[in-house]
Amino acid sequence: MSILATLAKALANRSVRVVDLTHTLSPNFPAIVLQTELGQAAPFRVEEISRYDERGSGWYWNNFTCSEHTGTHFDAPVHWISGRYLPNNATDSIPVEDMMGPACVVDCSKESAENADFLLTKDFLLKWEAQHGQIPERSWVLMRTDWSKKVSDPVAYQNFDEEGQHTPGPSVDAMQFLVYERKVLGFGTETIGTDAGQGFHLRPPHPAHDLLHGAGRYGLQCLNNLDQLPPTGAFIFCAPLKIEQGSGSPLRVLGLVEG
Ligand code: MN
Repeated sequence: MSILATLAKALANRSVRVVDLTHTLSPNFPAIVLQTELGQAAPFRVEEISRYDERGSGWYWNNFTCSEHTGTHFDAPVHWISGRYLPNNATDSIPVEDMMGPACVVDCSKESAENADFLLTKDFLLKWEAQHGQIPERSWVLMRTDWSKKVSDPVAYQNFDEEGQHTPGPSVDAMQFLVYERKVLGFGTETIGTDAGQGFHLRPPHPAHDLLHGAGRYGLQCLNNLDQLPPTGAFIFCAPLKIEQGSGSPLRVLGLVEG
């Protein structure tokens, strides 16, 4: 049987399951908040066009507006100044082969529960590799924190205080390791950014954005259900909308899991 026929059969008999790694887009979903003097991302807004009524008796549909960085979303290299001049750096020019790949799920849920400012380090990744094997080239590394479980409480999800936002993320040496040594395609988080809430204080600031996008790699944020993926063996699909010169896009992220 061909590879694709084998996959189709496995999907039909549920020996391969599909896990939805996406949150529902709704006006209540927490939006990223920058310092007040900076431009801001719009939350998701929806406006009904008709609903089987005088505006259209046989059909229901909506207009919606949002930022490219609203809800579960994809970051393209052109999003960051380090990726500004790279070829094929936007949502309409990224190679489609990059919009999928094997997933390595690094469980930082215990550490993140104990410390909202937890930083995933290279040392933590090396310990993960000692247990699960080397992170393959062109894989997606997903940082599981269980932060997605806070999403119904926007205050807890954002976790701001007078110092700013406190959410877990990667360290500089972790991103250098993943991008340059393991040559991953992308890095994904359950929080509102690929970087830690206090990532501005690292050098370079926002190392996930700076290093990933400077090397033409990608980010995923506001992921859901990472606790339903195994550490290795899952395969994800994460195709952004084909927005002309888009810096990112909300998307549906799906994980295939065997067994
Ligand atoms: Mn983003």
